[in-house]
Order: sequence, then structure tokens, then C-alpha cells
Amino acid sequence: MAGRVWIRGGHVLDPASGRDGRADVLIEEGRVIAVEALLEGVADAESIDARGLWVAPGFVDLHAHLREPGQEYKEDIASGGRAAAAGGFTSVACMANTNPVNDDPSVTDYIMDRARKDSPVRVFPVAAATRGLAGEVMTEMSALVAAGAVAFSDDGKTIMDSGMQRRVLEYSRMVEKPVMVHAEDRTLVRDGVVNEGAVSTRLGLPGNPAVAEVVHVARDLLLAELTGAHLHVAHVSTAGAVALLREARARGIHVTAEASPHHLTLTDEAALGYDPNTKMAPPLRGKDDVAACVAGLADGTLDAIATDHAPHAVHEKEVEFTAAPPGVLGFETAFAVVMALVREGKLTPLQLIACLAWNPARVLGLPYGKLEPGAAADLVLLDPVQRWSYDPAQGYSKSRNSPWAGQTLEGRVLATFVAGRLVHQAARGAAAA
Ligand SMILES: [Zn+2]
Repeated sequence: MAGRVWIRGGHVLDPASGRDGRADVLIEEGRVIAVEALLEGVADAESIDARGLWVAPGFVDLHAHLREPGQEYKEDIASGGRAAAAGGFTSVACMANTNPVNDDPSVTDYIMDRARKDSPVRVFPVAAATRGLAGEVMTEMSALVAAGAVAFSDDGKTIMDSGMQRRVLEYSRMVEKPVMVHAEDRTLVRDGVVNEGAVSTRLGLPGNPAVAEVVHVARDLLLAELTGAHLHVAHVSTAGAVALLREARARGIHVTAEASPHHLTLTDEAALGYDPNTKMAPPLRGKDDVAACVAGLADGTLDAIATDHAPHAVHEKEVEFTAAPPGVLGFETAFAVVMALVREGKLTPLQLIACLAWNPARVLGLPYGKLEPGAAADLVLLDPVQRWSYDPAQGYSKSRNSPWAGQTLEGRVLATFVAGRLVHQAARGAAAA
């Protein structure tokens, strides 16, 4: 039961209200009842000592692959939802590249139904923009929205036809949902598997140039300006795209954007060992690109940190680099990985929580990501300094493809509540060796 819980003495970080200081949080019947300095004597409440911890709204992930229906050997809504809860995510938007593709209300219904039954966290389907992600025939957006779709995206099957992209944006405006784009010009990417530059040369692997992303972002910003639609640029990885987005926002174009933990903290040099768990799309980039993405988050050019959680089975990833599918796990490591940005003084704790919770909720128009009286009691308890060692085999995802496997990470999600219900708990202070 979602009884009365009194979370005492934690450092509350709530970007929606700007609260950044010590307070108690009282939740009851699935809602936040009070966020106040040191409430006295709350009767009949389960009390949690949160001194030394951060108390924040539950994270909202704009970009994840839950693989159900169709690829349950990689992940399903139950395992993905469980992994999300362990990572502090209380709401997850899942991409349409399932099998069958989520291009029909019956598939959206199926995902919503499975999520209600199997997932400890809220799941929000992103529907395909075109049928079968083929870029040829638009999906029926209003029927998909009626079934529960919160956005449209062909994600990795980028719509190259500019006329089609224009129509997708025009229709999305009528249903008032964002179009999320995986911005890569496929004619420039060709068979590139790592960032084009010194690293691709050293590895002797085909390069994927930064300009492939920048060209595509430029096109879509112009189309967003023309149509007035809400464009959302997924997993931004290049300094060039950040510069275009900054300029577009200044001009009033309706655009939002996200970056992933790996693009914010790793460079292409991570791929020097040919580890397929460093292969992503877009690829890991150079130092200046990483710095530009972090600066974009800090100055509000980029709104959100989204995981792009992309499970793949061991047999799929344990092949040579060029043959491996791109993508890595994201849920369970996201908070610890991006805490590095706070330790390095590049983001304040409140900015970090804004990027993980409040901003992404606003991108999708969801009533979450905030800790105000009356709001849903979706929240997390975080230990900003706990060190722990990450072993994907001990994690909740069905897959293990992580570039952080075997590493000691700093910053841990200790508890996750969804609608006042405890859906994840980790041991406090169990420091890793
Ligand atoms: Zn993508």
C-alpha cells in the first residue's frame, strides 16, 4: 500500500520550485503532501532517515529501448522497467523499433497493457513517424496519440526524405506532440562505425563524421522553423549541433534536445581497444564535442540527459567491432556516470536533477519530474558519494552491454518511489572495495 511516508532531513533538490536545501518530504496516497523544513511529529508515518542524502523527483528518460514486443531475449518491459527503477527512473519513453514496429495503435495498446501489468515504472510509448520506420508512409498520428503515444520518432531509421520530414512535422503540430529525431545524414555516415578522425584512422575502421549529425540538425531546424512544430533532437553528440541549437533557440524555434551519459563523459578514445561496448550511434566523439555537449546542458541549450538504453544480447555484442549492433545499457549507471559532471563543477546538483527529471518531463508535457505538494510521489533518494562497483551480470537488465562494466562508480540511487510505492531499494553505505 502507498501509505504515509516521512522522509526526514534530506537535501531536497526540486528544480520546478528551485528548492535546494534541507527539508522533510511527506507522501501519502501516492502524492506529495508536504515539502517543508523539519516537520514535527508526523503520526502513523513510516520514517526514513535521509540525512546526508539527496531527495529528488524521479528521473524521466526520454529515450530508451525496452525491446518488447519482439526482442524479449534482449529486454522486456518487466526487466527494463526494473532496471529503470534501479537507476532512479520513474517514467520512461520507449522507442518504436520493436517487432512489430510501434506504428499502429494495437502495438501501442499492447505496450501500455504490458507496462501496466509488468513495469514498476511509468512507460510512455514513442510511436513511429512512418509505417515500418520505412520513411515512406506516415503513421496515423491521432489514433496513436489516442492509444497513448507521447511523441513520434523513427529514431535510428532517420527520415532522409526532406519532404516526408516536413509532412511529419506538420502533422505532429496538429496532435501537439514532439518529433524526436536521430540526426544523422545516412549518405554521410555510410558504413562509419566510429567517429571520423585520428581514432578511426588508428583503428583502421570506417569513420562516421561529425558533419553527418550537423547537416541533419541544420535541415531539421529549418523545417521546424517552417512548420512551427516541436522538434526534439535526440542524443546530440557534436559541438556543431550544439552551436546550431543554441542559435535556433535564440531565434525562437521550438526545439528541445537531449544528450546521453556516454556522449557527456566518454570520448572516441574509449573505442581504441575495439570493445563493441563502446560502439554507439551516433559514435563517441572527440574531447571538444564532449565539452560542447556539457556546456550545452549547463547553459540550457540542451534540456535533458536521456539514456538511449539499448540492450543487446551477449552473442550479438561479442563479435568484431564492425559487425556488432550499436548501443549500450543506460538505466542503472546513468546517475553515477553523470555525477562526474557535478564533481567536476560543470553542473550544479540542481541543474543535474533538472536535466534528469524536470526538463524531460516538460519536453513531453508530463505532470512529473517535480516535488511539490499535490504532485505524484515519484521520487528518489540518492547518495551522491557512495562508491559501488558495477557488474551488469548482477543488474536487472537482461543484457550486459555496458562500457562501464567492472568499473567503480560514485553516486548511487538508494530508493525509488513511484506513486508513493517503493519500487527499488539499495543498501546504504555499502562501499565497494
Ligand atoms: Zn537514436
